[in-house]
Amino acid sequence: MTNAFTKVTAIRGMNDALPGQSARWEQLESLVRDWLRAYGYRNMRTPILEHTRLFTRGIGEVTDIVEKEMYSFTDSLNSESLTMRPEFTAGIVRSCIENNLLYDRAQRVYAVGPVFRHERPQRGRYRQFHQIDVEALGMAGPDIDAEMIVMVARLWKLLGITDVRLELNSLGQANERAAHRAALINHLERHGDVLDDEAKRRMYTNPLRVLDTKNPAMQEMADAAPRLFDYLGEESRAHFDAVCARLDDAGIAYRLNPRMVRGLDYYNLTVFEWITDKLGAQATVCGGGRYDGLFELLGGKPAAAVGFAIGMERLIDLWEQYAPALIVPECDVYIVHQGEDAHRRSAMIAESLRDAGVSVVVHAGGGSFKSQFKRADASAASIAVILAGDELAAGSASVKMLRVADSSAQANQQMQVPLDNLVAFLKDRI
Ligand code: ATP
Ligand code: MG
Repeated sequence: MTNAFTKVTAIRGMNDALPGQSARWEQLESLVRDWLRAYGYRNMRTPILEHTRLFTRGIGEVTDIVEKEMYSFTDSLNSESLTMRPEFTAGIVRSCIENNLLYDRAQRVYAVGPVFRHERPQRGRYRQFHQIDVEALGMAGPDIDAEMIVMVARLWKLLGITDVRLELNSLGQANERAAHRAALINHLERHGDVLDDEAKRRMYTNPLRVLDTKNPAMQEMADAAPRLFDYLGEESRAHFDAVCARLDDAGIAYRLNPRMVRGLDYYNLTVFEWITDKLGAQATVCGGGRYDGLFELLGGKPAAAVGFAIGMERLIDLWEQYAPALIVPECDVYIVHQGEDAHRRSAMIAESLRDAGVSVVVHAGGGSFKSQFKRADASAASIAVILAGDELAAGSASVKMLRVADSSAQANQQMQVPLDNLVAFLKDRI
């Protein structure tokens, strides 16, 4: 009888990070932790699943995410409507309200992890992807908007990334958006012939979002639309100018993009994106802005807030164009052995090496010396230790340096090292 089972594959748009790739991810994550610490940000971890209404409310009903990108389902056990987080901000704000985190202090927090959006998978656009999400909560001034942008610029520098440019806009305050809205709707009505279905549907509910279109047929109409920026009052302009002045201080170049509205409903004042030409169509690596209304919208006390998110897949794709591939060894020392006694001794020696902070793989699965050495080589370990035969009986091991800069005779030579001295000997050489 055959046991036919149709192979199960990963879900479309959801990727594995294989061992060869995850070194890059780990390197990024550790660098990101240090980078955020340098600005006093602390890690926060919120659930992947939240109540659907958190996002419909927090992100906005008439947005791409809520209209068509959320993984939502009804929990069959209790009929609750749940959603896999499509972004971090709403969950973080929910948690801050629930745990009263802003009670006596402002908070600088960040989260790193997977988010989910049902989009058409392509380079730089996946259904499960990862974000580095950074939020400054309880601080209203332009200083903090600028600090966040400067800190992103520092990340590019740390990663050696040069081809990214900064675009800025201000979405003003609600009353300014309301004043602009009437003029914008009027403009859209006058250009009804070029509007696509989505635009027609959104023009009365969320006209600003119509300008965010990627439809080439609507570009000219969008370019000619009344600019929200021209409707900003004195305070909003002063906030924007103060952000720009601080970017000037830091020597960071930017371009005002009056059409930038960002994908989510909750933004006000400063919004920004970092864009590159090196990733094809998915050009935005980092996006963020101020969202002073969200705490109240989600039932909390009013609190100022600003944040940004970086797409990690896009960042890694970009970073790889600047930084050569990493070869991260599986271990420092690879032990090959012959015979039952040697195999058992290997396991014990490996434990003492690990006590001393050395990473060790003991060959498993048998095989000739030749095949064991092949594995040792493939592991990229810097040292092979050989335990076998008379030598072991006489209380010593052979040590072979596998990765030495010059391939001189000395490099390939095998050295006899007494077992008593082995740990100290190896520790000095890795
Ligand atoms: P886009 O305009 O590309 O759809 P967005 O405005 O929806 O981006 P945000 O919600 O601001 O993106 O998310 C922050 C960052 O997350 C983006 O700048 C991008 O780097 C990344 N990102 C967004 N959607 C995806 C996705 N589907 N796959 C991979 N990365 C993504
Ligand atoms: Mg999107």
